[in-house]
Parts: sequence; structure tokens; C-alpha cells
Amino acid sequence: MSRYWSPIVSQLSPYVPGEQPRIDDLVKLNTNENPYGPSPRVIEAVNQAADDGLRLYPDPSSTLLRETVADHYGLTPQQVFIGNGSDEVLAHAFFALFQQSQPLLFPDITYSFYPVYCRLYGIEYQTIPLDAGFNIDLEPYTQANGGIIFPNPNAPTGMLLPLQKIEWLLKHNRDSVVVIDEAYIDFGGESAATLIDRYPNLLVTQTLSKSRALAGLRIGLAMGNTELIEGLIRVKDSFNSYPMDRLAAAAATAAFKDQDYFKQVCAQIIESRELLSSQLQALGFQVLPSAANFLFAHHPARDASDIAARLREKGVLVRHFRQPRISGYLRITIGTPQQNERLIEVLEGLGLST
Ligand SMILES: *Cc1c(COP(=O)(O)O)cnc(C)c1O
Repeated sequence: MSRYWSPIVSQLSPYVPGEQPRIDDLVKLNTNENPYGPSPRVIEAVNQAADDGLRLYPDPSSTLLRETVADHYGLTPQQVFIGNGSDEVLAHAFFALFQQSQPLLFPDITYSFYPVYCRLYGIEYQTIPLDAGFNIDLEPYTQANGGIIFPNPNAPTGMLLPLQKIEWLLKHNRDSVVVIDEAYIDFGGESAATLIDRYPNLLVTQTLSKSRALAGLRIGLAMGNTELIEGLIRVKDSFNSYPMDRLAAAAATAAFKDQDYFKQVCAQIIESRELLSSQLQALGFQVLPSAANFLFAHHPARDASDIAARLREKGVLVRHFRQPRISGYLRITIGTPQQNERLIEVLEGLGLST
């Protein structure tokens, strides 16, 4: 607290990311990073972009990258927005689209950054409880609202809504903006980007941090009707005209072009996820069905924060949220087969199933 802070800053409760400790040999399964590096072509593109040109500001509209993303999803570049990580893209979306007279709606268990943006921008919100099985029940989202947002698959549950359900929601909610945060869509879901031409109030956000293994470069994007994208551009150009640096833009473009590598990495993570899920279940965990690069698991006989602490002692990091309804769960990022094996080995050492 400082007397120099503005009243709004005094009242913020910032998002707390998973830890990034500077210790070697950790099995880091706590922040949903990709266990594999980015495509070799991405590294090549970054090396090539690291030249004298760095003295110049980058293209403020990330034209080449927008064209690449538009091509990939069958959209026009005017339907694509690029930002410094999807967290920034989401922040701009909250500011540009959700400051309305009605409250924003999102699930009670979801990405914990959403209420943080609401406090930052003074947006009223109402949470809608997930059902007992942690599904998003869409019926309550048809009430009057100033916007709707949730991740698909949801975080930290990993549970996916099929595209028909997203479309049902769009049919029943035409007057406010619906943001689908597709941070994990590439691990088993179908993107709602195909619905953009039919629903002008749909904004789809994605990140290159997870499926494309570029968390360290901070690249996020949004896709939607040109009016929505223009709204985001107005905020961006009132905040930072150059959110994408030259190296990140080169990397992102190369990442979208190397589809083979991308597909191979996603397939490997999906295969590892299914194996890890069955191994955890064999140890007595209840594991939610996941379409993401992580599992959400509960052990009926042991305290989740205690398991997380014991794993940490053995150099294995997982995420535990001290939050109602989910304090009995662990969120475990899918690692390499060796990392997942190490997790199982340590868990076996805890004598969980006895
Ligand atoms: C990781 C994540 C993001 C943020 O991704 P960045 O592009 O790294 O900022 C957004 N939404 C959800 C649900 C996430 O899990």
C-alpha cells in the first residue's frame, strides 16, 4: 500500500501466475507450457529476423502475421487481431467490449484472470456455477447480460463444449459479445472460428503459448467480425501501437506455416494425456475428461495441497488452487513421456492407494 497509488490501484487484486523457479532439473507441470520446443523453423525465422532491422519499429498492424492467421482459418486479415500474449488481447477485449450496463457472465470456476480484468476496468460481473460434474450449463447464460466469456476447453477443468453448444449459445444471445477463449482448443476441440461469418458478436481468442510452444515470446490473437476487431484496434492504438516485436512476429508466422510439426506435437501430447489419465486413475485419482494439455485430478483419500507439497520436495511442480469447490484438485500439465513417468513414480512413492 502506498499513499501515492490511485484508489483503483489500491483496490486491485492481481493475478498470481504459477511459479517459474530458477532451479534446473525440475519437472515443471504447473503452468501448461508445452514440454517440447517450438518448431526448428521458428528458431530459424527468429535468427533471421535478428539483424539490423531491429533498429526499426515493427509493423504496427502485424500485417503478415494477420494474413497468415486469416489464411489458416479462412478469414480476412481484417477479422484478425494480434497482441502481446492472449492475456493482453483479453484485456483489450474486456475494455473494448465488456464495459456495459449489464454484468458480464462467466463460470464460477474458470480462468482466474477474468475477475482481475473486471476489477481493473470496473466491469460488473456475475459468475454462473458449473454443474456438479463441472460442465458449463449454458441455459443461465441466456439471461440479459453485458457479455459472456469462458475458455473452451474450460480452465482449469479441461472440459470441452462441442461446437454445436457454442452455436446454440450464439443463437440465444445475439445482443452482447460472446468471447470464447480457445487457449487449449488445439488439444482436442474444434475452433469456433468457423462461426464468425454467421455471428457478428462472436470473438475467438487464441494463444501461441501452449500448442505452439511460444510462451516465452508472448503472442496472442483474436478473430471476429471486423467491427469487433476495429474496437480492439482502437484500444491497442490508445495503449501501445507496437505490441508485437519483430522477433515474435517472425516466430509466429513461421509457427503457423509449420503445420506438420504442430500436428505432431499436439498428437503426442494428446496420446500422453490419455496414458497419464489412466495411470492416475490406477493410483485412485478421479480425473476429469480433458481436451487440453493438462489434467484436473482429485484424490479422495489425500489432501491435494499436501500432495502438491510432497511432489515439490521431489522436484515435480503441479498447480493447486486454494479456491472453493476445487481445493481438492490438482492441475497437472502434460509433460514429455519421461516427465509424466517421473510424476507417476513420485506419486507411487507416496502410497496413495493404501
Ligand atoms: C494460458 C492462458 C491464456 C494466456 O495465454 P498467453 O497468450 O500466454 O497470455 C489465456 N487464457 C487461458 C484460459 C489460458 O490458460
